[in-house]
Amino acid sequence: MIEENARKFLSEISGGNCYGEKVTLVAATKTRTAEEINRAIAAGITDIGENKVQEFRDKFDFIHGGNRHFIGHLQTNKVKYLIGKTYLYHSIDRDELAAEIAKRSTAAGITSDILIQINIGCEESKGGYPLEAGFEVYTRLKQTEGLHVKGFMAMLPISNDEKYLAGLCKQMRALYEKAKAEDENVCYLSMGMSGDWKLCLENGSNMIRLGTAIFGERNYGASV
Ligand SMILES: *Cc1c(COP(=O)(O)O)cnc(C)c1O
Repeated sequence: MIEENARKFLSEISGGNCYGEKVTLVAATKTRTAEEINRAIAAGITDIGENKVQEFRDKFDFIHGGNRHFIGHLQTNKVKYLIGKTYLYHSIDRDELAAEIAKRSTAAGITSDILIQINIGCEESKGGYPLEAGFEVYTRLKQTEGLHVKGFMAMLPISNDEKYLAGLCKQMRALYEKAKAEDENVCYLSMGMSGDWKLCLENGSNMIRLGTAIFGERNYGASV
Protein backbone atom coordinates (compact mmCIF):
# COMPACT_ATOMS: atom_id res chain seq x y z
CA MET A 1 0.00 0.00 0.00
CA ILE A 2 2.73 2.45 0.96
CA GLU A 3 4.66 1.59 -2.18
CA GLU A 4 1.57 1.96 -4.36
CA ASN A 5 0.64 5.29 -2.82
CA ALA A 6 4.17 6.63 -3.11
CA ARG A 7 4.37 5.71 -6.80
CA LYS A 8 0.92 7.11 -7.45
CA PHE A 9 1.72 10.51 -5.95
CA LEU A 10 5.16 10.69 -7.55
CA SER A 11 3.48 10.09 -10.87
CA GLU A 12 0.72 12.64 -10.18
CA ILE A 13 3.23 15.41 -9.49
CA SER A 14 5.62 14.47 -12.29
CA GLY A 15 4.04 17.06 -14.61
CA GLY A 16 4.99 19.88 -12.26
CA ASN A 17 2.84 22.61 -10.74
CA CYS A 18 0.72 25.25 -12.49
CA TYR A 19 3.91 27.03 -13.59
CA GLY A 20 5.50 23.87 -14.91
CA GLU A 21 8.01 23.94 -12.04
CA LYS A 22 9.31 20.69 -10.65
CA VAL A 23 7.39 19.64 -7.54
CA THR A 24 9.15 18.04 -4.57
CA LEU A 25 7.15 15.51 -2.57
CA VAL A 26 8.19 15.34 1.07
CA ALA A 27 6.76 12.29 2.83
CA ALA A 28 5.58 13.43 6.29
CA THR A 29 6.75 10.59 8.52
CA LYS A 30 5.51 11.41 12.03
CA THR A 31 4.47 8.25 13.93
CA ARG A 32 5.77 6.00 11.10
CA THR A 33 8.38 3.35 11.73
CA ALA A 34 11.76 3.37 10.02
CA GLU A 35 10.65 0.23 8.21
CA GLU A 36 7.60 1.99 6.75
CA ILE A 37 9.71 4.97 5.77
CA ASN A 38 12.28 2.74 4.06
CA ARG A 39 9.50 1.16 2.04
CA ALA A 40 8.45 4.59 0.80
CA ILE A 41 12.06 5.42 -0.09
CA ALA A 42 12.47 2.13 -1.93
CA ALA A 43 9.38 3.06 -3.96
CA GLY A 44 11.01 6.32 -5.08
CA ILE A 45 10.38 8.85 -2.31
CA THR A 46 13.43 11.15 -2.21
CA ASP A 47 12.54 13.45 0.66
CA ILE A 48 11.14 12.79 4.12
CA GLY A 49 10.03 15.20 6.84
CA GLU A 50 9.82 14.66 10.59
CA ASN A 51 7.83 16.74 13.04
CA LYS A 52 9.42 15.86 16.33
CA VAL A 53 13.09 15.99 17.25
CA GLN A 54 12.78 12.80 19.27
CA GLU A 55 11.47 10.86 16.28
CA PHE A 56 14.03 12.46 13.98
CA ARG A 57 16.82 11.23 16.25
CA ASP A 58 15.39 7.81 17.09
CA LYS A 59 14.89 6.82 13.47
CA PHE A 60 17.84 8.63 11.91
CA ASP A 61 20.30 5.73 11.69
CA PHE A 62 17.66 3.22 10.65
CA ILE A 63 16.46 5.06 7.56
CA HIS A 64 18.33 4.37 4.35
CA GLY A 65 18.77 7.48 2.24
CA GLY A 66 16.41 10.36 1.64
CA ASN A 67 16.85 14.06 2.22
CA ARG A 68 15.83 14.62 5.86
CA HIS A 69 13.58 17.64 6.32
CA PHE A 70 12.32 19.01 9.61
CA ILE A 71 8.75 20.23 9.22
CA GLY A 72 7.33 20.58 12.74
CA HIS A 73 7.40 23.19 15.46
CA LEU A 74 10.97 23.34 16.75
CA GLN A 75 11.99 24.23 20.30
CA THR A 76 15.12 26.33 20.44
CA ASN A 77 16.81 24.06 23.00
CA LYS A 78 16.53 21.09 20.63
CA VAL A 79 18.16 22.69 17.60
CA LYS A 80 21.50 21.21 18.62
CA TYR A 81 20.27 17.71 17.77
CA LEU A 82 19.42 18.63 14.19
CA ILE A 83 22.41 20.69 13.11
CA GLY A 84 24.26 19.17 10.18
CA LYS A 85 21.65 16.45 9.74
CA THR A 86 18.75 18.45 8.36
CA TYR A 87 18.36 19.00 4.63
CA LEU A 88 15.81 21.80 5.03
CA TYR A 89 14.12 23.41 8.05
CA HIS A 90 10.53 24.27 7.00
CA SER A 91 9.28 25.85 10.16
CA ILE A 92 11.31 28.95 11.00
CA ASP A 93 8.55 30.82 12.77
CA ARG A 94 10.35 33.21 15.11
CA ASP A 95 13.57 35.18 15.37
CA GLU A 96 15.01 33.27 18.36
CA LEU A 97 14.79 30.01 16.42
CA ALA A 98 16.52 31.50 13.38
CA ALA A 99 19.24 32.93 15.64
CA GLU A 100 19.83 29.58 17.33
CA ILE A 101 20.12 27.70 14.03
CA ALA A 102 22.45 30.42 12.69
CA LYS A 103 24.65 30.33 15.78
CA ARG A 104 24.97 26.54 15.88
CA SER A 105 25.50 26.29 12.11
CA THR A 106 28.26 28.87 12.16
CA ALA A 107 29.93 27.10 15.07
CA ALA A 108 29.79 23.84 13.09
CA GLY A 109 31.18 25.53 9.99
CA ILE A 110 28.07 24.90 7.90
CA THR A 111 25.19 26.85 6.39
CA SER A 112 21.66 25.60 7.07
CA ASP A 113 18.87 25.82 4.50
CA ILE A 114 15.65 27.22 5.89
CA LEU A 115 12.12 28.21 4.93
CA ILE A 116 10.28 31.02 6.63
CA GLN A 117 6.92 29.86 7.96
CA ILE A 118 4.00 32.20 7.41
CA ASN A 119 0.78 31.94 9.39
CA ILE A 120 -1.29 32.51 6.27
CA GLY A 121 -4.67 31.90 7.89
CA CYS A 122 -3.83 34.11 10.90
CA GLU A 123 -4.66 31.17 13.16
CA GLU A 124 -3.85 31.29 16.86
CA SER A 125 -3.16 27.55 16.93
CA LYS A 126 -0.44 27.80 14.29
CA GLY A 127 3.03 29.22 14.30
CA GLY A 128 4.55 31.51 11.75
CA TYR A 129 5.13 35.12 10.95
CA PRO A 130 2.26 37.26 9.67
CA LEU A 131 2.21 37.52 5.88
CA GLU A 132 2.88 41.26 6.07
CA ALA A 133 6.16 40.61 7.91
CA GLY A 134 7.33 37.93 5.46
CA PHE A 135 9.49 40.00 3.16
CA GLU A 136 11.14 41.97 5.94
CA VAL A 137 11.97 38.73 7.78
CA TYR A 138 13.34 37.26 4.56
CA THR A 139 15.55 40.31 3.97
CA ARG A 140 16.89 40.10 7.49
CA LEU A 141 17.50 36.34 7.60
CA LYS A 142 19.17 36.18 4.21
CA GLN A 143 21.89 38.44 5.59
CA THR A 144 22.42 36.18 8.58
CA GLU A 145 25.60 34.15 8.61
CA GLY A 146 24.94 30.42 8.86
CA LEU A 147 21.56 30.57 7.09
CA HIS A 148 20.43 30.19 3.49
CA VAL A 149 16.82 31.22 3.00
CA LYS A 150 15.38 28.92 0.33
CA GLY A 151 11.79 30.11 0.42
CA PHE A 152 8.59 29.98 2.44
CA MET A 153 6.26 27.46 4.07
CA ALA A 154 2.62 27.68 5.07
CA MET A 155 -0.22 25.49 6.31
CA LEU A 156 -3.64 26.39 5.01
CA PRO A 157 -6.53 26.65 7.45
CA ILE A 158 -9.27 24.01 7.36
CA SER A 159 -11.99 25.35 5.12
CA ASN A 160 -14.36 24.20 2.38
CA ASP A 161 -14.10 27.57 0.67
CA GLU A 162 -11.74 26.81 -2.20
CA LYS A 163 -11.74 30.38 -3.45
CA TYR A 164 -10.58 31.61 -0.08
CA LEU A 165 -7.86 28.95 0.09
CA ALA A 166 -6.72 29.64 -3.47
CA GLY A 167 -6.49 33.31 -2.55
CA LEU A 168 -4.25 32.50 0.41
CA CYS A 169 -2.00 30.37 -1.84
CA LYS A 170 -1.72 33.23 -4.29
CA GLN A 171 -0.69 35.62 -1.52
CA MET A 172 2.03 33.15 -0.54
CA ARG A 173 3.11 32.83 -4.15
CA ALA A 174 3.36 36.62 -4.48
CA LEU A 175 5.65 36.77 -1.45
CA TYR A 176 7.74 33.92 -2.87
CA GLU A 177 8.02 35.62 -6.26
CA LYS A 178 9.06 38.91 -4.70
CA ALA A 179 11.94 37.23 -2.89
CA LYS A 180 12.83 35.00 -5.84
CA ALA A 181 13.06 38.00 -8.18
CA GLU A 182 16.18 39.20 -6.41
CA ASP A 183 17.62 35.97 -5.08
CA GLU A 184 18.38 32.75 -6.95
CA ASN A 185 18.65 30.84 -3.65
CA VAL A 186 14.89 31.13 -3.28
CA CYS A 187 13.34 28.07 -4.95
CA TYR A 188 10.82 26.44 -2.58
CA LEU A 189 7.25 27.26 -1.70
CA SER A 190 6.25 24.47 0.71
CA MET A 191 2.48 24.31 0.87
CA GLY A 192 0.06 21.40 0.66
CA MET A 193 -0.84 18.36 2.77
CA SER A 194 -2.99 15.30 2.12
CA GLY A 195 -6.23 17.27 2.14
CA ASP A 196 -5.26 20.26 0.04
CA TRP A 197 -2.17 19.43 -2.03
CA LYS A 198 -3.95 19.64 -5.37
CA LEU A 199 -5.34 23.07 -4.71
CA CYS A 200 -1.90 24.19 -3.53
CA LEU A 201 -0.15 22.95 -6.70
CA GLU A 202 -2.78 24.65 -8.83
CA ASN A 203 -2.03 27.89 -7.02
CA GLY A 204 1.73 28.06 -6.96
CA SER A 205 3.20 25.60 -4.47
CA ASN A 206 6.21 23.56 -5.62
CA MET A 207 6.75 21.43 -2.52
CA ILE A 208 4.08 19.32 -0.81
CA ARG A 209 4.20 17.38 2.46
CA LEU A 210 2.05 14.26 2.44
CA GLY A 211 1.57 11.93 5.40
CA THR A 212 -1.81 10.23 5.47
CA ALA A 213 -2.06 10.08 1.68
CA ILE A 214 1.07 7.91 1.54
CA PHE A 215 1.06 5.98 4.81
CA GLY A 216 -2.63 5.86 5.73
CA GLU A 217 -4.27 7.12 8.91
CA ARG A 218 -1.97 7.88 11.82
CA ASN A 219 -2.16 5.95 15.06
CA TYR A 220 -0.69 8.24 17.72
CA GLY A 221 -0.64 5.40 20.23
CA ALA A 222 1.89 3.42 18.23
CA SER A 223 5.51 3.46 19.32
CA VAL A 224 8.43 4.17 17.05
C1 LIG B 1 1.62 15.94 9.57
C2 LIG B 1 2.08 17.06 8.71
C3 LIG B 1 1.89 17.05 7.33
C4 LIG B 1 1.17 15.94 6.62
O1 LIG B 1 -0.16 15.87 7.03
P1 LIG B 1 -1.17 14.86 6.29
O2 LIG B 1 -2.48 15.53 6.44
O3 LIG B 1 -1.09 13.58 7.01
O4 LIG B 1 -0.74 14.76 4.87
C5 LIG B 1 2.38 18.11 6.61
N1 LIG B 1 3.02 19.14 7.19
C6 LIG B 1 3.21 19.20 8.51
C7 LIG B 1 3.92 20.36 9.08
C8 LIG B 1 2.74 18.17 9.31
O5 LIG B 1 2.90 18.25 10.62
